[in-house]
Amino acid sequence: MTLIEQSAARAYAPTPAELDAKELRIALRGEIFAPGDTGYEDAARIWNGAHDGARPALVIRCSGAADVIAALRFARASNLEIAVRGGGHGVAGFATGDGVAVIDLSPMNEVHVDPAARRATVGGGAVWADVDHETQAHGLATTGGLVSSTGVAGFTLGGGIGWLMRKHGLACDNLLAAEVVTADGRLIRTSESENPELLWGLRGGGGNFGIVTQFEFALHPVGPMVYAGPVFYPAEADVALLRAFRDWTPNASEDIAALLNLTTAPPLPVIPEAWHGRKVVALVATSAGPVEEGDGHVGRLRAVAEPVADLLGPMPYTAIQTLFDPLWETGVHAYFKAANLARLDDGLIERLHELHLRAPGPQAEIHVHQMGGAIARIDEASTAFAERSMPYVLNAMTGWRDPGAGEAHRSWARAVIEAARDASTGRAYVNYLGDANAARTAYGDETYRRLVALKERYDPTNVLRRNQNIEPRAARATGAER
Ligand SMILES: Cc1cc2nc3c(=O)[nH]c(=O)nc-3n(C[C@H](O)[C@H](O)[C@H](O)COP(=O)(O)OP(=O)(O)OC[C@H]3O[C@@H](n4cnc5c(N)ncnc54)[C@H](O)[C@@H]3O)c2cc1C
Repeated sequence: MTLIEQSAARAYAPTPAELDAKELRIALRGEIFAPGDTGYEDAARIWNGAHDGARPALVIRCSGAADVIAALRFARASNLEIAVRGGGHGVAGFATGDGVAVIDLSPMNEVHVDPAARRATVGGGAVWADVDHETQAHGLATTGGLVSSTGVAGFTLGGGIGWLMRKHGLACDNLLAAEVVTADGRLIRTSESENPELLWGLRGGGGNFGIVTQFEFALHPVGPMVYAGPVFYPAEADVALLRAFRDWTPNASEDIAALLNLTTAPPLPVIPEAWHGRKVVALVATSAGPVEEGDGHVGRLRAVAEPVADLLGPMPYTAIQTLFDPLWETGVHAYFKAANLARLDDGLIERLHELHLRAPGPQAEIHVHQMGGAIARIDEASTAFAERSMPYVLNAMTGWRDPGAGEAHRSWARAVIEAARDASTGRAYVNYLGDANAARTAYGDETYRRLVALKERYDPTNVLRRNQNIEPRAARATGAER
């Protein structure tokens, strides 16, 4: 037993089995919310409004690793299923549920930057806005989300697709070490030299292997100004732009990461009013390289059609990181479905255009992410991230406000991914999957087998199963058990 494990064990006698929730309230530095408590409704809420009806038995807001250990032991002793909440953005709604104990790390959002070592330690409940705020004070950054309220934890543990990824790798590639509360309540550290197989699993295998209380990331010089932003074109340019994008991506500079978004023009002052609410295609790009080289990187692609609005140019890194926040606010009902693409052929391009025109609402979007660069250079076996060689990731990302509209949105998103079946590699990015039970098909056979072996080592009875679950054999044989 390490020193840290011994002190953790000492600090939490008597065991939580002897506690009831009243005593847990005393044991914790953080807060507990049960149904009927003031603040329960807020505490139980997650980003995706489609999962808002869930009624957890308890929401345990943890102030640090010690609280996480106490909460986990209490939930296990009380036979409560555990849901872990980082930033609360998980689309499939795993961070809440009826009758569960939510272990909520949101108060644990501290970020500390070591500029000399170019490293940041980040609390398990931080969101990307917290990280960018502190790292940019030193002119540094690491690959974070396209919406700044997304949690660092779920994002990184699933992989982490962001603007810096083609130059600096996915978020999980920048994960150097972590402190983890294991399913049996121990606090351990993982890095390349300590429990390295666990680090492998945290780099893409999701929240299956423990509750991460602290992340340690590599940082890179970025900004404060970068070349970034969207260019909006009429939907009539869908086909031309997708084809030009396909031709441009193989030789694009690794400084730049771009996506095409087949969407509806939002009612923003930067877009001419006549276009608000009309179907448009947005080319969105960010360069992690010198600002003055940005134009040269995208020039040819940008000139494919006459834009409706063009915001691509120098802007603060923190501005591109928050630009899309107002479009995806907490409470929107949402569903995502995704596929890794082996190619972007003409047939698929035509089908995506047709599906774009049939989108059921203004927030029904088709994203085609450019992958490659540093992502593809990293050895596939070195992380649990499902796949590295695909040139594109397709994400049907849809949001709606009218609860009755859900089925139309879900079936449209499924149709988008079905349309890509022939062009897909058969694998998918787990963080873009709104349905549960998707892990088996999302990872390739080899990675999945290694994930199962790791799960059996760190969580053999599937305590942490509200996630894209890697099911250990014991739980499969006996049904899920605690
Ligand atoms: C508006 C929006 C924009 C997005 N943009 C991007 C994007 O640009 N790129 C991208 O790659 N993804 C993106 N995503 C997907 C995002 O990566 C996932 O939804 C991710 O799960 C969010 O993490 P979270 O911590 O906020 O979620 P949560 O709902 O809090 O957690 C999701 C799951 O992660 C696990 N988990 C959370 N915290 C911990 C922890 N501390 N320790 C162990 N396990 C934990 C649990 O299994 C939990 O169920 C976006 C999602 C949304 C809603």
